[in-house]
Amino acid sequence: MTQQYNKPIPVPQGESDEYWNKAKEHELWLRSCNDCGGTYFYPRDISPGCFSRNTTWVQASGNATLYTYAIVHRAPHPGFVGDVPFVPAIVELEEGPRMPTNIVIDDPTPENLQIGMALKVVFEDITDTITLPKFAPA
Ligand SMILES: [Zn+2]
Repeated sequence: MTQQYNKPIPVPQGESDEYWNKAKEHELWLRSCNDCGGTYFYPRDISPGCFSRNTTWVQASGNATLYTYAIVHRAPHPGFVGDVPFVPAIVELEEGPRMPTNIVIDDPTPENLQIGMALKVVFEDITDTITLPKFAPA
């Protein structure tokens, strides 16, 4: 990647290393609890449902629906000036958890962004080590 990425970049930490490693392989992985059965985001060792540490990694289907979104017309950081308008969103994954992300869409208008619309994960390699899961209309 020759172009410098001039936006804030996620900093992987112990509990989320696997998440970022899998994202780099263009796979979306979640944590799931072996005790209460809950699947959750963000990735962490302790189940937010029952506080068990008996948790594991599961691969997500990548299917989601649009839960909520905004269309940003004024860049919140100089790195985003070239991106406006862009669409930060919360999507509801097929496995249940909701996650913050961006919607990748050519013409981001309210007419083209319907709550509940079907989405599919896509991956944007932003550096040699970080890949961002984003979502596009399915
Ligand atoms: Zn649990």
